[in-house]
Amino acid sequence: MTRVRAAVIGGGIIGLAVARELLHRMNEAQVTVFEKEGHVAAHQTGHNSGVVHAGLYYQPGSLKARLCRRGVTLLRQYARDKDVAYEECGKLVIAQDASEVERMNAIFDKAVANGVPNVRVVAGGEIAEIEPHARGIAAVYSPSTAIIDFVAVAEALAADIAAAGGRVLLGREVLGLASRSTESVVTTREGSQAFDVVVTCAGLQSDRVAMMSGEPRLPRVVPFFGDYFLLEPGRSSLVKGLIYPVPDPRYPFLGVHLTKRIDGRIMLGPNAFLSAGREAYARRGWSASDMASSIGFPGFWRFALRNTAAAAREARTVLSTGAFVKEAQKYVPEVRRADVMRGPRGIRAQAMNADGSLEDDFVITGNGRIVHVRNAPSPGATSSLAIAEYVVTKVLERTSV
Ligand SMILES: Cc1cc2nc3c(=O)[nH]c(=O)nc-3n(C[C@H](O)[C@H](O)[C@H](O)COP(=O)(O)OP(=O)(O)OC[C@H]3O[C@@H](n4cnc5c(N)ncnc54)[C@H](O)[C@@H]3O)c2cc1C
Repeated sequence: MTRVRAAVIGGGIIGLAVARELLHRMNEAQVTVFEKEGHVAAHQTGHNSGVVHAGLYYQPGSLKARLCRRGVTLLRQYARDKDVAYEECGKLVIAQDASEVERMNAIFDKAVANGVPNVRVVAGGEIAEIEPHARGIAAVYSPSTAIIDFVAVAEALAADIAAAGGRVLLGREVLGLASRSTESVVTTREGSQAFDVVVTCAGLQSDRVAMMSGEPRLPRVVPFFGDYFLLEPGRSSLVKGLIYPVPDPRYPFLGVHLTKRIDGRIMLGPNAFLSAGREAYARRGWSASDMASSIGFPGFWRFALRNTAAAAREARTVLSTGAFVKEAQKYVPEVRRADVMRGPRGIRAQAMNADGSLEDDFVITGNGRIVHVRNAPSPGATSSLAIAEYVVTKVLERTSV
């Protein structure tokens, strides 16, 4: 029997999860992961909030809702099997005034429809029993929302791939992907190789990699950075778990939140603003081609015009640490400017349509022989093992390999 040759482009948590799943489900497959950086999890997987989302916000029936719930089940078990720390520290989504209560209740309804376990609405007085330093008039409480180190998960997946005979090639940027009638050809600086199946999971570069094989240019990836601040270790007792605002429905991101990290440190953030580069983590970093791709895209301007109020609020938090801290103080008033220090920056790959609307759901396209994960924003890390199941099922259904 000839062995199926499978390639995965991208060594983030989703690409690695897909490679591992291919090895499990395709007998005798030869699996190669191409990762352009010198280590796995170099981009979104290594620059996020580390929250195992329980499924509160997502449209019931959507891929996000289904794959997030399935992803939690798989990830919890995987963490147990691999001895990766996983802590169900719980999450409050707190309403500050009556105007937010209706939106908060809508989140509760979605959470129930999505099957989030033990989720409930708590009154203002009960908030302090869960988070003694938090304030608000009511909250949705999800006790099973958890935290994890997604880099540790990605490293465990890479070790599984190697143990099952797969290869994770680091420092191998894919420069070309050509689809032929019976096979696909992946080109790197080292040469070209033919594969029976290719899955692309290129995160911030997902539109560019998809276009290599003739996929449409849209949806376009528009990068939004998010800055984090860290609470001084001596003030960590101000936050026990995860404290979130009720998201602004006019803006697609969750708003500055207070997040316990698996190492016990407390992070504030992230805010959300157009990034001057898809991989520009330094505060003054930028890329001319990425800027041109975003600001030369009419969809971006349509999005910007519709979101001026939220963009102005986010811009204040970018320009002023005081304004950033004020967002957090709405939920935990004792946090002071002097308690915080600048933390890491993450950059979200957000797929945007020509009319400026954002792709809300995960977007997975392709013909079976080449499958593209084109949009996998949060809760993509939580959902990674379930996205892998979904993608590999798609591959098996559509190919006879
Ligand atoms: C600020 C922020 C906070 C978030 N918080 C959470 C959270 O709390 N919980 C959660 O579940 N999700 C969260 N997310 C989302 C989550 O991080 C992503 O959904 C997930 O990491 C996506 O994984 P990925 O493998 O698709 O992408 P990535 O981790 O970005 O990996 C893509 C990989 O592809 C590689 N690549 C790209 N182009 C090429 C090429 N041509 N050749 C070879 N390799 C290539 C890149 O180098 C990269 O390593 C957050 C994201 C951000 C940015």
